[in-house]
Amino acid sequence: MTVTQAFHRTPRDYLRAEGPDEPVLFLSPETLQATARRFLDGFPGLVTYAVKANPGEAVLGNLLAAGIPGFDVASPAEIALVRSLAPRAALHYNNPVRSRSEIAVAVGHGVASFSVDAPGELEKLAACGVPRGTEVAVRFALPVAGAAYDFGAKFGASPELATALLTRVVELGYRPALTFHPGTQCTDPAAWTAYIARAADIAQAAGVTPERLNVGGGFPARRNAADSPRLDAIFETVARATRSAFGGSAPALVCEPGRAMVAEAGSLALRVKALRGDGVYLNDGIYGALAELPIMGMTDRLRVMAPDGTPRTGEGTARLLWGPTCDSLDRLPGMVPLPDDMAEEDYILVDGMGAYSTATVTRFNGYGGLRMATVQALAEG
Ligand SMILES: *Cc1c(COP(=O)(O)O)cnc(C)c1O
Repeated sequence: MTVTQAFHRTPRDYLRAEGPDEPVLFLSPETLQATARRFLDGFPGLVTYAVKANPGEAVLGNLLAAGIPGFDVASPAEIALVRSLAPRAALHYNNPVRSRSEIAVAVGHGVASFSVDAPGELEKLAACGVPRGTEVAVRFALPVAGAAYDFGAKFGASPELATALLTRVVELGYRPALTFHPGTQCTDPAAWTAYIARAADIAQAAGVTPERLNVGGGFPARRNAADSPRLDAIFETVARATRSAFGGSAPALVCEPGRAMVAEAGSLALRVKALRGDGVYLNDGIYGALAELPIMGMTDRLRVMAPDGTPRTGEGTARLLWGPTCDSLDRLPGMVPLPDDMAEEDYILVDGMGAYSTATVTRFNGYGGLRMATVQALAEG
């Protein structure tokens, strides 16, 4: 990946001037910092950022500049990356399965909080020298709907096991906390209500007062033009549910958004390599920055323009979108309406692509040469 420090105002200005044949991910620092402020001003607790959604240094740098004080990290490489940019930021190591050598790296970097969902992993923290007084958050999972896909399928103890783990966290001398993740792109605030109520039950059954409750990521981004994700409604629900479930002994709240923090700050430019019948052959696909689309569904936030930046305004006709590799799986979901005056070498700008795009690019078939560029604004005007 190459990072271009472009001083173009918008993606259109960049595309017109540079004529790139590779896909380009445009980042708007202004949008990113505005989103960070929305979380910092609106969320009733500590806001951290889940690094895996987009670990770009420009992303992390802008979040630090906006005042994000902590990061959810999942590996030694993410820990080292954040530490290289922010020696004092709080690191929350919330991948609940870790090797002994990974734990040693975390201890060396002064990780402030670990999550666990199994007895063996909790005992491993103690055996590998995680100091007493460190926070250990017990992660639990419920069969709750509302998200694009369910994180509970992989991680999270049952409420019964979580109760036993919370008791053991205190016995080992760690600061007790609880955590959950409602699943990514969770549009239903009621998912948080259900989890927070259950967290209070677990605390009560264990006879432990958790110092903090981490309500995860999962906050929704705007995937389609008609969506209006209601972060404020979720923040309010989280605050209200915590008061009503815990009363006077409410834990301090933490959140760790990935997608909702960074999605809107990125737009991806694709190029049309060829048009064949209703097929459109693109320069990026499911092995590149569009890896998530087959799982999450297609987005309709597409803007088509000629190489000179002129918007294509023709009537929409349904097209089949293929990625650049020779693999027939490399296709975007559904039939996608695109202007009928679209031509070879046109650009398609996909908005809302800042999360889970740069992070999953492979070099399969020799593709994956994604460019990164910074712009002042993603929209025209
Ligand atoms: C991936 C992840 C997140 C971020 O999830 P989003 O849906 O992108 O907000 C937060 N916390 C943990 C533990 C994760 O694994």
